Amino acid sequence: MNIPDSIQQQAQQLRQQLEQYQYEYYVLDAPTVPDSEYDRLFQQLQQLEAEYPDLIRPDSPTQRVGATPLAAFTEVAHAVPMLSLGNAFTTEDIQDFDRRARERLEQRQIEYAAELKLDGLAINLRYEKGQLVQAATRGDGSHGEDVTQNVRTIQSIPLKLRGENLPPVLEVRGEVFMNHAGFRQLNAAQEAKGDRIFANPRNAAAGSLRQLDAKMTARRPLQFFCYGVGEVQGVELPDTHSATLAFLANFGLPVSRHSEVVTSPQGCLNYYQKILAMRDQLPFDIDGVVYKVNRFADQQTLGFVSRAPRWAIAHKLPPQEVLTTVLAIEVQVGRTGALTPVARLKPVEVGGVTVTNATLHNQAEVTRKDVRVGDTVTIRRAGDVIPEVVSVMLERRPPDTEPFQLPDRCPVCDSEVVRVEGEAVARCEGSLKCPAQRKQALQHFASRRAMDIEGLGEKLIEQVVDHGLVNSVADLFTLPREQWLGLERMGKKSVDKLLAALNDSKQTTLPRFLYALGIREVGEATARQLAQHFGNLPALMKADLDTLQKVQDVGPIVAQHIHAFFLQARNQEVIQRLQTVGITWTEAEPNSEQSSAEAGAQPLAGKTFVLTGTLNGLTRDQAAERLQALGATVSGSVSKKTHCVVAGEKAGSKLTKAQDLGIDILDEAGLVQLLAELEG
Ligand code: NAD
Repeated sequence: MNIPDSIQQQAQQLRQQLEQYQYEYYVLDAPTVPDSEYDRLFQQLQQLEAEYPDLIRPDSPTQRVGATPLAAFTEVAHAVPMLSLGNAFTTEDIQDFDRRARERLEQRQIEYAAELKLDGLAINLRYEKGQLVQAATRGDGSHGEDVTQNVRTIQSIPLKLRGENLPPVLEVRGEVFMNHAGFRQLNAAQEAKGDRIFANPRNAAAGSLRQLDAKMTARRPLQFFCYGVGEVQGVELPDTHSATLAFLANFGLPVSRHSEVVTSPQGCLNYYQKILAMRDQLPFDIDGVVYKVNRFADQQTLGFVSRAPRWAIAHKLPPQEVLTTVLAIEVQVGRTGALTPVARLKPVEVGGVTVTNATLHNQAEVTRKDVRVGDTVTIRRAGDVIPEVVSVMLERRPPDTEPFQLPDRCPVCDSEVVRVEGEAVARCEGSLKCPAQRKQALQHFASRRAMDIEGLGEKLIEQVVDHGLVNSVADLFTLPREQWLGLERMGKKSVDKLLAALNDSKQTTLPRFLYALGIREVGEATARQLAQHFGNLPALMKADLDTLQKVQDVGPIVAQHIHAFFLQARNQEVIQRLQTVGITWTEAEPNSEQSSAEAGAQPLAGKTFVLTGTLNGLTRDQAAERLQALGATVSGSVSKKTHCVVAGEKAGSKLTKAQDLGIDILDEAGLVQLLAELEG
């Protein structure tokens, strides 16, 4: 067939571009584009090749697996090739896959093993008589890199299989990956050392495994799940893939517990939806799910095409990293005056959500990534984390761009912006003069875990600040009814409700009040410690730096912030006014050395409680707060040090553990009785 020149050229360009991206991804572990961009170009080339089969060459990226192994490692020839997987993106792709398999197998229905597609890198582990003798990367599918020493440092990979009658040869295949917590920890450590920051957990896992020094790998939080076998000698495997995974688990090999057996394309799609819904809760990245024809005999009949088996397919989830452009970089001013540069983006779908902004964190981050207006950037949105700019594609940078620099003056109130030596954050010095800070302070004050003023949301706060009606949190309580009524969307009913909520909020607790004040570095836990230690506000306000540092968790910096806060005349005045308008709480006895002996108000001091299951009459937060007010520590996990577990309805493993350890257990009624007795 005659192939037009333009098509030849297009295919050539795509091949070159994909080869470059493969090299960056597989060899350097440092991709410059997100997978979604690579997949888009890959699909384009596949389509051209489908239309003009003469374009297909054995070395086309669509025909090959991975990349040639790095010469720095010893090469390993795979006894059984390590292939890639075909991709499916739509429901039709899955139906087609199933139809093709049924036709070839001449079966009416096929059973599939459905599994997570972990986003890490493939590894082959060779066990001989139960001993791990070799570990190799996939490489180009026929030859990989010998990474045995490195793999030996991964805790979840057994060096020796469990059990009797261990087979002479058992090759296990699976994915080495890094979970989110490990990834964040690693990048923080890398940043502190001024070392390379990894773009995502996959690159971090690949970069960590392919270290020349195994000691480096040992320090990286790598994990492993197995999903198949390679060469096997001297042992009869079960008939199906799913049973084989269970068989491997018996040897002590880690297997994901999210695998299922399904029987139709619809079963596959249901599994996909289920996994999609739980994706954000998983502690690691997945980029899809995989369906495998379950019976080995059928797998054999189906065989392979060039780079992938015909009996399996990867169903891709919506990408968590995509390309878009930066339309502008704006600066937001936070509650404590911190200036955060935010990239306004050309709207784009990431992980199933349309994203228009991404945080750039601070000036140092913008400088490190060199993000500029007009740039094409990779953005990432995984889990509940705020979308962020991962990297810039320098080759797509338009001419005449300027590096971004935070302004010297606050964009909202024009006060000076100061950056403290050694701190990443730049701050507006305007304090509560700055409307942006005032709005945030008011929002924080009203928030559920602070003063809990229902109905006082962002929009309303914006209005009262912009109209100059509220300058400090105390003004909220004195603003006349008519003024509230004059605001947008505030009818009589809403105003009455709001005034009632303001009134209700006046009866509070000291920890909530302290937290609501928004003192820098004083979160809920510290507020609780302060309240417990001093017992009353005047004692805390008078405390000097040394006294403050006696409080648990309060170090010199936090002490400094607290001290400076109470020293400011303006803050003293606001507190005074808040008390005058009627904000009250019960003052507890201080918990300091002198008085803890007489600990009348702290009968649960030194006791650790754990709350589990559902309570009906009060929320867990309320229960925790009341226990803490009585001096108890409320912890999230049961251990030998736990004194009492409060078990509500449907309590699970924590209750079992408490029973095992012989710890006191209270049901909800018991808790209510205890609180009633002790609260007097
Ligand atoms: P693949 O990653 O799409 O699929 C094959 C791999 O999936 C296997 O090798 C294995 O490691 C893994 N896997 C995870 N869970 C599995 C399971 N349960 N069963 C079987 N395998 C499982 O294919 P690929 O050929 O390695 O590479 C293509 C992928 O790499 C694409 O997602 C592509 O976007 C990405 N890539 C990106 C760039 C870039 O520049 N960003 C470059 C090259 C490749």
